[in-house]
Amino acid sequence: MPSVSAAQHAIDPVKLEKLAEVAVNIGLRLERGQDLVMTAPIAALPLVRLITKHAYAVGAGLVTTLYSDEETTLARYQYAPDESFDRATDWLYEGMAKAFAGNAARLAISGDNPMMLAAQDPAKVARANKATSIAYKPALEKISNFDINWNIVSYPNPAWAREVFPDDPEQVAIEKLANAIFAASRVDVADPIAAWTEHNANLAKRSSWLNGERFSALHYTGPGTDLTIGLADRHEWHGGASTAKNGITCNPNIPTEEVFTTPHALRAEGYVSSTKPLSHQGTLIDNIRVRFEGGRIVEAKAGKGEEVLNKVLDTDEGARRLGEVALVPHSSPISASGILFYNTLFDENASCHIALGQCYSKCFLDGASLSQEQIAAQGGNSSLIHIDWMIGSDKVDIDGLREDGSKVPVMRKGEWA
Ligand code: ZN
Ligand code: ZN
Repeated sequence: MPSVSAAQHAIDPVKLEKLAEVAVNIGLRLERGQDLVMTAPIAALPLVRLITKHAYAVGAGLVTTLYSDEETTLARYQYAPDESFDRATDWLYEGMAKAFAGNAARLAISGDNPMMLAAQDPAKVARANKATSIAYKPALEKISNFDINWNIVSYPNPAWAREVFPDDPEQVAIEKLANAIFAASRVDVADPIAAWTEHNANLAKRSSWLNGERFSALHYTGPGTDLTIGLADRHEWHGGASTAKNGITCNPNIPTEEVFTTPHALRAEGYVSSTKPLSHQGTLIDNIRVRFEGGRIVEAKAGKGEEVLNKVLDTDEGARRLGEVALVPHSSPISASGILFYNTLFDENASCHIALGQCYSKCFLDGASLSQEQIAAQGGNSSLIHIDWMIGSDKVDIDGLREDGSKVPVMRKGEWA
């Protein structure tokens, strides 16, 4: 394993600094005096330092980072007592929820080894995930309800780079992953802030067209797919920058290529096949085929990882229903790169996708003022999980269905029609 400085050597320092600037000034748009709570793999320390510097430079109050580390996570699976897998650090998540309630912003640096837990007992992984989901819920709700500005960016962690480019020497793999992250995050250009402003305007144009059409459902056809997804009542499409309830307009995901809305939890009919593998907390789930009846998955198969998939679906009632539908053209820069990142933040932006579980309340007209009961009444799903998986490709067509039964082409062979 190379030293930290050797790994850093493979990462362009100018572009890394631009990524930190984009995270703070586009991703979060931190306000003067606003606190920031960051989570990061320990390998991402160089990016954490740059983000912290830029956050304080724009007037952040307190910047706090919580680190994770692969070896200490694996030590738990090897040595911790069995009963501890039904527990989580409630006190830590309560503290995060308290920070968000006090208007702290949230930044997550992703970059964990996607295969970290692949060799661990799936039952233990599922129990630990469930305990964490329950403990994290009060904090996660502040994010899924968009109470505060939040952002995710990625760092080319060596362990992740080795998974994505297994045939390359480590230094080459890190350099390739770093450059792919920089390109997808639009920081490989002279003026990333201008590039993001233009990109946000394009995504806003797509979502306002869809909002004007007010489709009641989308119909997907392709190999192994014939699926009708009803959209929630008074749904609203979003894409790119959007405004949190605290009034700050931010770009939660970097990168992002999607426009997305809330499907109706009770109105999905038909079958659908995944078009890319899903890397879920250390397990690869591939060739997913599911059948929906009345919005509920009644049959789920996978070529790989079927046991994990079915455990995920059994998390709670909402885990079998849809919480997000997103449109991404097949020609998106991430798809064009041809790289499978084993990381949803990137892979979901390569392809049209749907998500099982929790919906986003912002994807409703006047979403900010709706209660959980009103959201549910309009078809919004609720669950401990939110898992995106890819169903788009250059072989998938999508039609918008109007209330009167007429059809409008939305996508043909994976591109905007
Ligand atoms: Zn999405
Ligand atoms: Zn999603």
